[in-house]
Amino acid sequence: MTDRVQGTSGAAGAGAGAGAAPGTAPVCDVLVVGSGAGGLSVAVTAAWHGLDVLVAEKAPKLGGTTAWSGGWLWIPRNPLAEAAGIREDVEEPRRYLRAILGNRYDAGRIDAFLENGPRMVSFFEENTAVRFVAGNAVPDFDGDAPGAATGGRSVCGAPYDGRELGEAVALLRRPPAEMTLMGMGIASGADLWHFLNARRSLRSALHAGRRLARHAVDLVRHGRAMQLVNGEALAGRLLKSALDLKVRFRTGSPVVRLIVEEGAVRGAVLRTPDGDVAVRARRGVVLAAGGFPHDPERRRELFGHAPTGAEHWSAAPPDNSGDGLRLGESAGAEVDRGLRDAGAWAPVSRLVQRDGSVLHFPHLIDRGKPGLIAVTAAGRRFANEANSYHAFMRDLLAAVGPGEEAAAWLVCDHRFQRRYGLGASKPFPVPLGRYRRNGYLVSAPTLEELARRCGIDPAGLAATVEAFNRDARAGRDPAFGRGGTPYNRVSGDPGHGPNPTLGPIERGPFHAVRILPGSLGTFAGLKTDAAARVLGRDGRPIAGLYATGNDMASVMGGHYPSGGITLGPAMTFGYLAGLDLARKAAG
Ligand SMILES: Cc1cc2nc3c(=O)[nH]c(=O)nc-3n(C[C@H](O)[C@H](O)[C@H](O)COP(=O)(O)OP(=O)(O)OC[C@H]3O[C@@H](n4cnc5c(N)ncnc54)[C@H](O)[C@@H]3O)c2cc1C
Repeated sequence: MTDRVQGTSGAAGAGAGAGAAPGTAPVCDVLVVGSGAGGLSVAVTAAWHGLDVLVAEKAPKLGGTTAWSGGWLWIPRNPLAEAAGIREDVEEPRRYLRAILGNRYDAGRIDAFLENGPRMVSFFEENTAVRFVAGNAVPDFDGDAPGAATGGRSVCGAPYDGRELGEAVALLRRPPAEMTLMGMGIASGADLWHFLNARRSLRSALHAGRRLARHAVDLVRHGRAMQLVNGEALAGRLLKSALDLKVRFRTGSPVVRLIVEEGAVRGAVLRTPDGDVAVRARRGVVLAAGGFPHDPERRRELFGHAPTGAEHWSAAPPDNSGDGLRLGESAGAEVDRGLRDAGAWAPVSRLVQRDGSVLHFPHLIDRGKPGLIAVTAAGRRFANEANSYHAFMRDLLAAVGPGEEAAAWLVCDHRFQRRYGLGASKPFPVPLGRYRRNGYLVSAPTLEELARRCGIDPAGLAATVEAFNRDARAGRDPAFGRGGTPYNRVSGDPGHGPNPTLGPIERGPFHAVRILPGSLGTFAGLKTDAAARVLGRDGRPIAGLYATGNDMASVMGGHYPSGGITLGPAMTFGYLAGLDLARKAAG
């Protein structure tokens, strides 16, 4: 294991790791709390500018939710789009955000984000191991809003060969097994479509065959997947960049307290396996602990649909339990409670995994494919299923009556399940037996029987499916306008017509999966300025304290205008925090 990473077992204390003389508190220039995209982008930027950086990570592995994510960043006017000839004035994304965010449009932070997002991408591509691939055909979520784009505003972490990390690859958080194919991640976009089309196209079959063959070799040689994709690739590339720049890491060591002297943050206390260690940070402490998706108390306060805090099933890792927000508050910071939504909503289904743990599987891909509907217990549709996960869940929450459980069912036929998969149950040739046996997938030969097994009103479901099928065959959805936006259509199947997102539910057996309110992360966070400096209750920056990622109140004001609006700002404000820290050190 690299000597710059100290972990939970048999490692030296943070004192030695942080370069302390015996008997003195360990010292660094910048102490970063958390190792997701937010924290690592600060660490890499600050270290590249010559600062001595220590990253404290609560979990035994590095990468946070970022390593489980799709790895997409929303960065309008990014250099990859420009290289492809997609140029737009900064006024266009501004117009879009003004239209969506309304009175939550914070001009200072939005301008900082729009101006520096492209610079952040260039900085990382030119100076570090981070590379991106373009998302030039990825549309914004609200295609009807002024300033919406049909592409050119997204980039994704480029696939990465885990062997580049050497032994440090073992430190990277791996995606849950059920979100991979035999441990191998599938990249969104072309890679995914090759796997879905492997039975229909020789080219796709060869692609899938090559990937699987390489995976088999990796399993034999390295005991794990090495073709990293999506968020795992982004986190892997950030980790490699940080290690190249001599950033030091301390895993299994949550930050439990900030050291505040004369109103300025001077360091923090880490709870290491060897006891509490006070680390002094000459330039500042950066909170990047990933928000509060697993803090029941804060959920109770801020999630309207979770009156006890328990009625919410986040897809983020359990270590993100609101520590960053509490640490900030202890130093005089304030959580922004005025966002439209406090979380990045996504419907999830609950799957008992082989090891007995329960995975909250986010339904990001299946809902828009042709031949699926979402219904409540009354058997009625309540949403355009091809809309964004956030909009879809808002509709679900609005559809249930007061006191009713916010649950629904995704319903499809066997052909759909075998073609696209349904939630965690994968398409052909992966067998369905296990998903049926453990109750994840409810199946029945007829819709009537399926409804009975799920507790859905059979007559309601029959009427809904009949009307839906009649219109779907004609490519129309008079009830919800499915297929009406570019984002809807991209969520569908480009090979399916006349509407890529609409198809009938026809031949049994039929399948259903129960969905519940969940999230990809949280939006409510600490109030900051445009340089990611945390603001005190008097509205002035708290000296020595920064926040980025989901510990910073979302620059989107609790709206979800496009995919990648958490990672794009997380890395941009991380980069800006790193620059501000470096400027202070130089000046
Ligand atoms: C399945 C899925 C797909 C997603 N896809 C996308 C996408 O494509 N684009 C996008 O923009 N967003 C996506 N998201 C959301 C995105 O992953 C998160 O919003 C983002 O990763 C948050 O980054 P972060 O740096 O704030 O936190 P994280 O990446 O979660 O990192 C926070 C780290 O802090 C650590 N930590 C917590 N408390 C402490 C403490 N006290 N001391 C030290 N360390 C601590 C945690 O263990 C964790 O490692 C997705 C989420 C999921 C679940």
